[in-house]
Amino acid sequence: MSKKHQFKTEVQRLLDLVIHSLYSNKEIFLRELLSNASDAIDRARFESLKDQSILENDPDWKIKITVDATAKLLTISDNGIGMSSEEVEKNIGTVANSGTKRFLEQLQENKENLPPELIGQFGVGFYSAFMIADKVTVITRRAGDAKSAVRWESAGDGFYTIEPAEREKRGTDVILHLTEDHAEFLEEWKIRKIIKKYSDFVEHPICMDITREEVERGEDGKPVEGAEKKVTVTEETLNSRKAIWLRPKTEISKENYDEFYKHISHDFQEPFETIHWNVEGQAEFKALVYIPQRAGMEFFMPEQKEKGLQLYVHRIFITDHCEELLPNYLRFLRGVVDSSDLPLNVSREILQEARAIKIIHKNITKKVLETLAEMKEKQPERYATFWTNFGKILKEGLHSDFENRTRLQDLLLFETSTTEAGKRASLDEYVKRMPETQKDIYYVTAEDRRAAENSPQLEIFRSKGYEVLFMTDPIDEWIVNDIGTFQEKKLVCISKGDVDLDSEEEKKSKEESRKKAAEENKDLMSRLSEILKEKVKEVRFSKRLTESACCLVSDEWSMGVQMEKILKAMQQDVPSSKRILELNPEHALIGVMRKLHEKDSKHPKLEEYASLLYDQALLMAQLPIEDPLAFARRVSSLMAEEGGKITE
Ligand code: ADP
Repeated sequence: MSKKHQFKTEVQRLLDLVIHSLYSNKEIFLRELLSNASDAIDRARFESLKDQSILENDPDWKIKITVDATAKLLTISDNGIGMSSEEVEKNIGTVANSGTKRFLEQLQENKENLPPELIGQFGVGFYSAFMIADKVTVITRRAGDAKSAVRWESAGDGFYTIEPAEREKRGTDVILHLTEDHAEFLEEWKIRKIIKKYSDFVEHPICMDITREEVERGEDGKPVEGAEKKVTVTEETLNSRKAIWLRPKTEISKENYDEFYKHISHDFQEPFETIHWNVEGQAEFKALVYIPQRAGMEFFMPEQKEKGLQLYVHRIFITDHCEELLPNYLRFLRGVVDSSDLPLNVSREILQEARAIKIIHKNITKKVLETLAEMKEKQPERYATFWTNFGKILKEGLHSDFENRTRLQDLLLFETSTTEAGKRASLDEYVKRMPETQKDIYYVTAEDRRAAENSPQLEIFRSKGYEVLFMTDPIDEWIVNDIGTFQEKKLVCISKGDVDLDSEEEKKSKEESRKKAAEENKDLMSRLSEILKEKVKEVRFSKRLTESACCLVSDEWSMGVQMEKILKAMQQDVPSSKRILELNPEHALIGVMRKLHEKDSKHPKLEEYASLLYDQALLMAQLPIEDPLAFARRVSSLMAEEGGKITE
């Protein structure tokens, strides 16, 4: 009794993507299926440490490839853990991984620009079979459960069937019914070539029966006349099975490293950086760690941690879910750690507590940060590429990893008011460029570079020739508090507190005129404060404006504008803090308003102007204005007045 099922929509979508987007590289289907087979064996071996019975008296792990050239069948069999019918349903009928599902939803929007190298990262392995087969049959039986065998079959057309089956031994057969134009994958040389290329380091033997025809030869080496051809079949192991991370670096080529990376990461691109090292002494382990070219899932969702590093103990695969090996901010790394200090039957609880894991965690973090520091120094452009891809994630470390804070600070890059768009500077470079008179490190937070460049608060810094860091990532405002100071220089937000860049001398020479302006405009300023008292904390004269009429600033210790925006976007209950409206005492508008005020302190125009100034300041800070209609009406009536004067 076979039951017909429909694939979950997202699976069908995934299938369509795989079949149509990976067009150029079909041979990877074999790598994917062999990798699944090898994973299944790893799992069985791991379970057998606790429960011998699942071995079913067959302890020789093996993957077997069988070819039926006449029927155009290619079968990949393993004696791994196998699947129960529920597991078949769950693992192959749905996209088990919720991250993949969300990723697909994202892709749905830009189907045309789908980067194929990204697809591979999300565990689509099994479905790649449909690139070369028009039907796939899976016969599988869960290890330790002699009655659970099932047969699954699909033509990749939206449906699959599932029915009970027989399979004497534990494990899985994946039977590919190759399409006419993919018959080449049945040829021995082709299979050998693909295995050498992608799966040579698979730890378990990948075997195939090799058929040779031999004719009997005489002593002269020539075929004996009339003799029958002798056909021999021998099983050969096609992979060398060397765990790459255990081999000396000198023996490993870049291609070896790259292929291993692709094998473990399911990435189609080469790795961006490869780090391979051994540690001996208080802890003993080998690590092979890769930085990918670009961020995958973890970029979209921080909770997606399961890829990370695989943990082996003495060459035996333990888990690829070992979160404890890495700090969260290095979750983009891929690779393998092989420890000699852990017991084989290590449990989840032990992993969380194990000293050996803590030491590895510490060591990997240090090693990776050092590698990045070296790249930054010796290959700044390459480092900049890394930063573009992973800087956002790495920055999180400033908040969470106190121990490496200094190292992480040195790795930061920011665009600044003096860099070209897209180019970035480190804090160290910034400090080196600081003019002698500059005491602090200045930054502005904004949504993007353009908004940062246009902040009115920047004016005085420009005119003084002081560089200002542009903090345009949402996370920047959080980490800036964690940095606090860099090389004993305080990080100061240009739109907070009372900025005064003047030297003592300048202050003295300006004292007169400042005092005068304050006195002259005292009544005006208190009237403006009164008009805006519901909206702002204070209206005062600014020391940071040279061109614009006004800007909004915050108290030194209050939440910055960006942070408030982010929290609100996250639907957090943040009290809107009242800001300070700063006016430029040099601006002609001040004189005009003063005259108005002198004429009639309750002049309705004053109220109009005060509101307009406040709304402008909000707009410049990219904050929403409370009443856009009123704003528009005020601007239009100003235009009409002004236009009226010109045309009079
Ligand atoms: P991934 O291997 O990246 O998880 P796949 O689509 O290749 O994604 O496989 C989906 C799931 O199906 C696997 O995670 C595994 O649980 C199961 N599976 C696939 N092949 C086998 C196999 N040969 N033996 C046991 N389970 C398998």
